[in-house]
Amino acid sequence: MVKTRFAPSPSGYLHIGGVRTALYAWLYARNQGGEFLLRIENTHIQRSSQESIDSITEGLEWLGLNHDGEVIEQKDRFDIYQKKANQLIEEGKAYESEGAIRLKSDCLSSIVISDQVFGDVEVKSDELDDFIIMRSNGAPTYHLAVVIDDHESGITHVMRGDDHLKNSARHIQLMEAFEYPKPQFVHLPMILGPDGARLSKRHGAMNVLHYREEGFSPEALLNYLVRLGWSKGDQEIFSIEEMIDGFDLSGINKASAKFDIEKLRWVNQQHLLNTNDSELKLMIEARSQIAKGQEDEIMTSFIKAYKNRANTINDLVSSCDSLFSDEINYNEASAEKFLKKEIIPPLEDVVDSLRKSDWSQESISEALKSVCEKHEIGFGKIGQPIRIAVTGGTQSPSIDQTLILLDQETVVDRIDAAIEYIKENSNEET
Ligand code: GLU
Repeated sequence: MVKTRFAPSPSGYLHIGGVRTALYAWLYARNQGGEFLLRIENTHIQRSSQESIDSITEGLEWLGLNHDGEVIEQKDRFDIYQKKANQLIEEGKAYESEGAIRLKSDCLSSIVISDQVFGDVEVKSDELDDFIIMRSNGAPTYHLAVVIDDHESGITHVMRGDDHLKNSARHIQLMEAFEYPKPQFVHLPMILGPDGARLSKRHGAMNVLHYREEGFSPEALLNYLVRLGWSKGDQEIFSIEEMIDGFDLSGINKASAKFDIEKLRWVNQQHLLNTNDSELKLMIEARSQIAKGQEDEIMTSFIKAYKNRANTINDLVSSCDSLFSDEINYNEASAEKFLKKEIIPPLEDVVDSLRKSDWSQESISEALKSVCEKHEIGFGKIGQPIRIAVTGGTQSPSIDQTLILLDQETVVDRIDAAIEYIKENSNEET
């Protein structure tokens, strides 16, 4: 049975690169009907923290990357590592030096890592030294712990970042010393930042929970990440089920891929469009008191009107909040550009005709059209001022679609308020 694992070192949060590694290991296990284990690599007690473990676990849970069985923590296994290191000393395969224990490296032959992604990778014998497996403070090194744990857990496929490729040569030496069978190695290409350097903290938001706060959906984030280093034909959008069904090791690329936030936003938008309206409604309401206060029917129309303009659920929440809030805050630059003195007479006529309309989408449209005809202006001249008057900004669906979401009185009051605003501001100028 296929068994994979994700083995983070808990010295910080779960970052995007870690998620991609976890995702591939999880997908492969799920695709093969195998198991996916979670192992916390906290042999470095000072560098590890419970806070970090909690944050990593929270991230994995949010993403739905569920693991099988108990979480293994290396800090609970120091006795085992010590015993295994002593065994190697007794067998003459390791020795003590300055309080540490080193593996006797076979300096005569080179080591070939046969990797599922990178093919056969040779590490020359002169690069292999007698490396430390146990520190003088009694803590195992990463190399010793990872080899013992992978073996004892029955890991069949070691999947991790290609920054560990060279380490695998050391691990193979240890496996030979312990007479362990070798697992398959699957090293994953790095994720790069937009500048082409390896993705790191200085590229900004690395904590996966940041994307939750920003309103990305877990499914979309995983979809985006699965395509960073793996492909299946030219398919871009995958549901979780499609990822599980389609995932294979042969689709993993050797080349590293660049993290591209705009692409992530696009993928999220595609998932948002595939989400049904009643679910979107619940998601918005979970994030907005203002949304909760609206009638169901209004919220449903709001979602229909705004859905295809949003990248994330937060976009929808902020549109909802600014549309339905009691207080309209004008975007300053837009107000300066569009709320001009010459637009007052048409706006006054808009107020008049809207007051008389029977408040259907068609009558709103008719009312605005007649004002434009009377003043011999294009619709664009009044469209943006009305948008700003009613929503505070210039981004909204068509005017009739937007206005009908509010009641007649509210819209009329808001346009009146905008007229007042223009008057006050143009007085100051003169
Ligand atoms: N703890 C290692 C890391 O976070 C994991 C390496 C491995 O998967 O073997 O990079």
